[in-house]
Amino acid sequence: MRVTTAFNKMVGLPGASVATVTFGPDGLVLGLRRRTGRPVCACGRRGTGVYDRSVRRWRHLDWGVSKLWLEAEIRRLDCRRCGRVRTEQVPWARPRARHSRDFEDVVAWLAQHTDKTTIAALLRSSWQTIDAIVGRVVGERLNSARLEGLLRIGVDEVSFRKGHRYLTVVADHDQGGRVVWAGEGRNAQVLEAFYDELGPAGCAGLQAISLDLGGPYHKATNAKAPHVRQCADPFHVIKLANEAIDKTRRMAWNQARAQPTLTRGRGRPRNDAPPPPRNQPRWVKHSRWALVKDPVALKPSQLDVLHELRRSGSVLYRCWQLKEGLRDLYRLADPADAPAHLQWWLQWACRCRIPAFVTLAKTVRANRERILAAVELGLSNSKLEGINSKIRLINHRGYGHHSAAAIIAMIYLCCGGITVHLPTER
Ligand SMILES: [Zn+2]
Repeated sequence: MRVTTAFNKMVGLPGASVATVTFGPDGLVLGLRRRTGRPVCACGRRGTGVYDRSVRRWRHLDWGVSKLWLEAEIRRLDCRRCGRVRTEQVPWARPRARHSRDFEDVVAWLAQHTDKTTIAALLRSSWQTIDAIVGRVVGERLNSARLEGLLRIGVDEVSFRKGHRYLTVVADHDQGGRVVWAGEGRNAQVLEAFYDELGPAGCAGLQAISLDLGGPYHKATNAKAPHVRQCADPFHVIKLANEAIDKTRRMAWNQARAQPTLTRGRGRPRNDAPPPPRNQPRWVKHSRWALVKDPVALKPSQLDVLHELRRSGSVLYRCWQLKEGLRDLYRLADPADAPAHLQWWLQWACRCRIPAFVTLAKTVRANRERILAAVELGLSNSKLEGINSKIRLINHRGYGHHSAAAIIAMIYLCCGGITVHLPTER
């Protein structure tokens, strides 16, 4: 068998065959011969007017320990449809790429599974190359119809670069929480840009949106899609209740610390002496998880803390009851009971005389309609929270260190429903 035939079978490139095999200082170079003569423009038009010719190399998957390069003549065309000179499209590589499709698909597949340093070392490439490849694969594979026919969406902010910068992420509730859009920043303009991209028809089709209790997304939705039913995301409501607990707990802790501690007399205490008082401040400080966690998930030691708080008539126990009372809103067997339950809770919270909870009650009252809409429609951003932790993982893997564009491309690649097939799977 001739060496060119062997390589032809091994690399299996579409639209070309291996004509020459040479060893260069940089590795193995396969000279390609095109099967069809007429060049194709990037726009898809088969052109005839060749403007000029040059030789280009594309990096392909390594052959053993040596790098493998594909080399072919590439032409520029005077395309009548595009009205300018453009480089022809080759079947084994994406437009403007200096790597073959197979190489880029392997990079994208690895990027879905592992960190950037590993890929760079394994494939002997740079971080910048990997970012560029991910951007190209996402540009080609991201479904352009993903913004069509959206009915129920969720929007949330996501931090990257250790919380110094933010993205706004929009997910489709009806597609299992798939990310359909992401933009840099967390203000009203960013979400308005999404509504603009959706267009008037897309906005008109929207039925409901789940969002946080804060202002910007609410404002953008009022401005661009006022007919959409807004739902306050339960996660954010409970988060506010937990923050109110934290505030009260800190206050209780500071008060307890301010009290003079009892000092024990000299010598060993008598056997029948009462037990020494618990170290109150320390104990209040360590009650946090017992108070904010789901009671079903509490450890025995945390349950003991709750019982202790109840026995001592602590204000923290009342806080815990108020928080669980609010959570019960989302555990009602019949959502039709929600307005009455919320009314009962608001009355309780308004009169509880715990400042943090009185403030919370005011916020809840102001957002009453949106909170009830979330219960009625059963919408929550819990899937977005899952995406949030996935994005944190992407950030840790080294994709969030540079530009927002790079991390947005990675979010589409990992959470946007893109399937990448390895060359060996085709
Ligand atoms: Zn063209």
